Amino acid sequence: MAAIVHPLSHADLLSIWERGDRLHPAQLAVELLQRAVPSLSAAALWQLPLGQRDRLLLALREQTFGPTLRLVAACPHCREALELTIQTTELCSPPATTALPLPESEDAHAVVELQVAEYSVRYRYPNSADLMAVARCADRQDALQMLLAQCLHAVRIETGEPVADLPPDVVQAIAEDMSARDPQSELLFRLRCPSCDTAWQAILDVASLLLKELQAEAERLLDELHALAAAYGWSEPTILSLSAKKRRAYLARCGACA
Ligand SMILES: [Zn+2]
Repeated sequence: MAAIVHPLSHADLLSIWERGDRLHPAQLAVELLQRAVPSLSAAALWQLPLGQRDRLLLALREQTFGPTLRLVAACPHCREALELTIQTTELCSPPATTALPLPESEDAHAVVELQVAEYSVRYRYPNSADLMAVARCADRQDALQMLLAQCLHAVRIETGEPVADLPPDVVQAIAEDMSARDPQSELLFRLRCPSCDTAWQAILDVASLLLKELQAEAERLLDELHALAAAYGWSEPTILSLSAKKRRAYLARCGACA
């Protein structure tokens, strides 16, 4: 089974722009995918492991704005701003395409079992519902603890007794295991600062990047709507029903196009 990912319409863009600042990034991601991947139910999207969710978001980004991402990252040592251009295909393996293979339904709840030091651990991949649940936590440490409680169950091998507080090195080993099994769960890219030669890895937060791009695109669209409504008296639905080519042609004729 494959998911067809559709581009966002102009009406989708404006609707997200209108409500985007009131939505938690996890809600925004689910809402965007409900519009772009109608074959998946909202319940399935909330339960989708974050790596798979981000692959769909990248495919949505590619469908709506194309495959080229222009990013700015600050060097952690000298704070120099680095501008870089990457392709969505460099971040996805297999590449984000319009038809993505979907996990079998039980995969979304797949449980991994492993032994770390004297602990036996069972975990599942975190999803958007988990992120919403931890959003109410007072700080990062509380959020991590709650996320672990939701997604993993650990017992001491010798006694079989459940363990709530795992040592930091065990938590780190579990995080590394998770990342190795689902490389898409963290979209990492390597960077080197041209000023001080510091090398580091940055994580791409696809949902936040998409929100910024959607807001910028919606603002541009609003400028066009404003100019055409002022010049011709057309309604918003009428202007949105025009193709981009026609809108540009009318904008050029009313002098609003640069
Ligand atoms: Zn630097």
